[in-house]
Amino acid sequence: MDEIKKEFEEGLKRVKDFEDLKQLKALFLGKKGRVTALFKRLKDLSPEEKKEFGREINELKSYCEKLLDEKSRELFERAKQESIEREAIDITLPARNVNFGGLHPITRTIMEIEDIFRSMGFGVEVGPEIELDLFNFELLNIPKEHPARDMQDTFYINDNVVLRTHTSPTQIRVMKRQKPPVMFISPGRVYRRDSDITHSPMFHQVEGLLVDKDIRFSDLKGVLSGFLKLFFGDVPVRFRPSYFPFTEPSAEVDIGCIICGGKGCRVCSYTGYLEVLGCGMVHPNVLKNGGYDPEKYTGFAFGLGVERFAMLKYGIDNIKLFFENDLRFLEQFSFAKGRLL
Ligand SMILES: [Zn+2]
Repeated sequence: MDEIKKEFEEGLKRVKDFEDLKQLKALFLGKKGRVTALFKRLKDLSPEEKKEFGREINELKSYCEKLLDEKSRELFERAKQESIEREAIDITLPARNVNFGGLHPITRTIMEIEDIFRSMGFGVEVGPEIELDLFNFELLNIPKEHPARDMQDTFYINDNVVLRTHTSPTQIRVMKRQKPPVMFISPGRVYRRDSDITHSPMFHQVEGLLVDKDIRFSDLKGVLSGFLKLFFGDVPVRFRPSYFPFTEPSAEVDIGCIICGGKGCRVCSYTGYLEVLGCGMVHPNVLKNGGYDPEKYTGFAFGLGVERFAMLKYGIDNIKLFFENDLRFLEQFSFAKGRLL
């Protein structure tokens, strides 16, 4: 029995995995195992010897079982440890760089303008880019032969249909379907036959209209001054009399030059001011054309060029940069650069 015990212990030392363990177990405790075989000898012994020998075999059996059990646990722990080491994630590796897209500066500028006007209670409306001559000109108090048509080099699709030259036709469209009060801005693309360093044949405007009872020029001044200060910061704002066929009286609005701070530079033609938008009280004819009674309602309208706003705000000196899709330019407006609105 001592010999069997010794051999079992030797065998156990050589066990490297569960397969070895299984074989060892079969060799000693299996049906034909060496310990099992000892029990068969009991029948040849006297009752006293049987008792003593039986106890010793059982002790040996328990001893083997205990060691097998311990080895099994050891093998399991080792396997677990190995798998943890093999499957470990090295969290010290630097993360892969994530590239964020960015908003185009024009989109960003429109969103910013919308946010400001929304905060003042204005809604946002859109109109079609292919527009009837009637809406683009006639109903805005610009009949055929009107000299103001020369101010806008129009792309005609046919005699009655144009690529809209401004976002103002949205005014007529909204008035025709909605009773006063109306209060909205309308951003969108517009088209004119014009192209140089500050003009593109396609560009963006934001139109604005507010019509209600008792709307006065002071309301126009308050809203637009507030808007310009929110957009450009605390700059001086001035109103100059001007002419537009769809407003009366009309004005152009200047802000103190944000490039030179009003001292005078090339951008402001040494005047210290930059023209940024056109506006005025809605002409009674336009109110009538929209289906409103000009005796009862008054309102103001304004229009601005988005590219101009973006160029001034971000210090961009060539309008073509907006449309060339040069990543080196556009990336400067990406979220990753921390220039969120
Ligand atoms: Zn200047």
